[in-house]
Amino acid sequence: MKVFRFNGGRIGVANQEGWFDVTDSYGVNPASWPPVQMVQFIADFDSCIKNLLAHADTKPIDAESIRLDVPLEWPNKLLAYPVNYVKHGEEMKSTNRADRNGFFMKANSSLSGPNDPIVLPEIPGREIHHECELGIVIGKKGKNISREEAFDYIFGYACLIDMVVRGKEERVMRKSYDSFCPFGPWIVTADEVPNPSNIQARLWVNDVLKQDANTKDLIVDIPEMIQTASRVATLYPGDIIATGTPEGVGPVNRGDRVRIAIENVGEMTLQVK
Ligand code: MN
Repeated sequence: MKVFRFNGGRIGVANQEGWFDVTDSYGVNPASWPPVQMVQFIADFDSCIKNLLAHADTKPIDAESIRLDVPLEWPNKLLAYPVNYVKHGEEMKSTNRADRNGFFMKANSSLSGPNDPIVLPEIPGREIHHECELGIVIGKKGKNISREEAFDYIFGYACLIDMVVRGKEERVMRKSYDSFCPFGPWIVTADEVPNPSNIQARLWVNDVLKQDANTKDLIVDIPEMIQTASRVATLYPGDIIATGTPEGVGPVNRGDRVRIAIENVGEMTLQVK
């Protein structure tokens, strides 16, 4: 199933039967603040989805006529792994590696949706790079999660671009500008991604293929990311983990179009402003 937000925070799901608005049947006010409705929906999903799909207030929607919003706006955490592909480490001449450094964080407010532009800050002379990544969405609360249990804690997956200003300032600052984490276009539930440890992720800038790699080449694999993160911090429904980028990162400039596509997950195209 696809789970998404649209038209200003309404909640929708899509399955083989079609696309549906579950905002009213689930009983959330899309205008309420803080916008944590999707976090709550993910936590409740297993117990409520069957009833919601059968509910009289669940209405079909025309997928062509809606505007998709960022599927998760206020997660508890947005974690990310640094250099997690050998060839990306080589191209950056970096001594960082996910298996030695662990995770870092991006500001949750850097999240932006499939129809939002990537807005570049005015920093003359500095390169701002795209990083094509798989986004993992946690489905239930967990601490000290083992490798063996890790997949049970995954709600789903989305495309994620980890935008970054290259340079020497703290990484968390260089990666936390507003719109520096395009995420979406929806969350695909884990049952529809049978082997997330073997899917292709690609990114194009202006139709030129820049990144093209498979998650089987991750240094720290998906179960280990969850194990490592949950040893430090309790993971909550809706938490996002960015898995790290493969080789092929490079600058984006105003006017560019960035497209990301991940096998079994989806694709989205972002304008750079
Ligand atoms: Mn990254």
